[in-house]
Amino acid sequence: VNKPILYPWLTPVWQLLTRYHTQAHLPHAFLLSGISGLGKQALAEYFAYYLLCQNKAEAPCGVCKTCRLFQAETLPDYYQTSPEKVGKTIRIDQIRQLCQALTLTPQIAEYKVAIVCPAERMTNASANSLLKTLEEPTPNTVMLLVTDFPHRLLPTVRSRCQQVVIAAPEPAQALTWLQAEGVEHAETLLALTSGAPLAARNYASQDWLAKRATVFKDFLGILQHQTDVLALSQRWQKSYYPACLHWLMSWIIDMIRLKMVASPPDLANPDFIQGLQQGAKQQPVTVLFKRLDEVQRAIQQATGGISVNAQMLLDDVLYAWVK
Ligand SMILES: [Zn+2]
Repeated sequence: VNKPILYPWLTPVWQLLTRYHTQAHLPHAFLLSGISGLGKQALAEYFAYYLLCQNKAEAPCGVCKTCRLFQAETLPDYYQTSPEKVGKTIRIDQIRQLCQALTLTPQIAEYKVAIVCPAERMTNASANSLLKTLEEPTPNTVMLLVTDFPHRLLPTVRSRCQQVVIAAPEPAQALTWLQAEGVEHAETLLALTSGAPLAARNYASQDWLAKRATVFKDFLGILQHQTDVLALSQRWQKSYYPACLHWLMSWIIDMIRLKMVASPPDLANPDFIQGLQQGAKQQPVTVLFKRLDEVQRAIQQATGGISVNAQMLLDDVLYAWVK
C-alpha cells in the first residue's frame, strides 16, 4: 500500500507547493532539488497524492476514490518513471512511453501527475524526448522531476520547470525527529549527512558508523604506509565502495579545513579529529587538493550511471596516496 507521508521539516515547502494549486497558477512542471536524504521523493509523491485527491483541502483526504486507488497503486492518472535498476539510466523508451501516456485526458482525477526520479538519470536522448512534453504539455498535466544533482540536467529541461530547492532542516528540528525515531549518535550522523535526516536515519539503520570507522582505520593505514593498497582496494570494492569514496572525500575536505583555518573549523567528521589532524600534518595542502580532485572524479564516474571498473577506479584513488 502506498500511503505517502509528509516529513515535518518539509511543511514550509509543502505550503509553497499547495499555494500554486489553491491560487490556480499551477506550473505544469516542477523540479524538486536538494541534497540526498531530505525526503524529496516522498514530497513529490505526497504532492501527487494531493493533486489527484478529489476532496483535497490542506492535505489529501485519504478516503476518496482516487486516494484509495492511489494507495492501491492502481490509479491510471499517476505515473512514476525511474531507472529499472538502481544506478542505471532512465531510457528513452521509458520517457517516450510516459510522454505518450501524458497525451491522454485524465481518466478519473483532475490531473495526470508524473514523477521522474532521479531525474538526472535521464540520458541526453531521454531528456530531449521529454522536452517536447515540457514545452507543450497537454492540459491538466503536472510533472514532478526530482533530483539530488540539478546541474546534471540539461539547462533546457531545468529552465522549463518551476524550480523548488529543498534545504536541510534546522539542526534542532532534525535532532528531535531522529531522537523520536530512536536513532543513536544523531548529532554525529547529521554532521556526516550534511543535516539530511533521512540519510542520517539510513546511516544508523545500516550501521554505517561502524563501517565508516573501519574504512577510516584503513585510510589511516594507507597514510602511514602500513596497509597493502591492493588488498584494501579489493576489500572496499566488496563493500559498498561509492560510500567509501564519499567518506574519503569528506575526510580530505576536513583535512584541508584543518590546514587552512586557524581556529578549530567546523568539521563534517568531528569524531575523527585526531586522525584527521595527523593526516593533515603529513600532507601539503596542494597535495590534498589534488587528492580531492581525484576522488571527486572517481565519485562522478562511480555514480554517473555508466558501468565502470570499480577495481581500477579504487586502485587509482588509493595508489595516489602512497606514490
Ligand atoms: Zn482524497
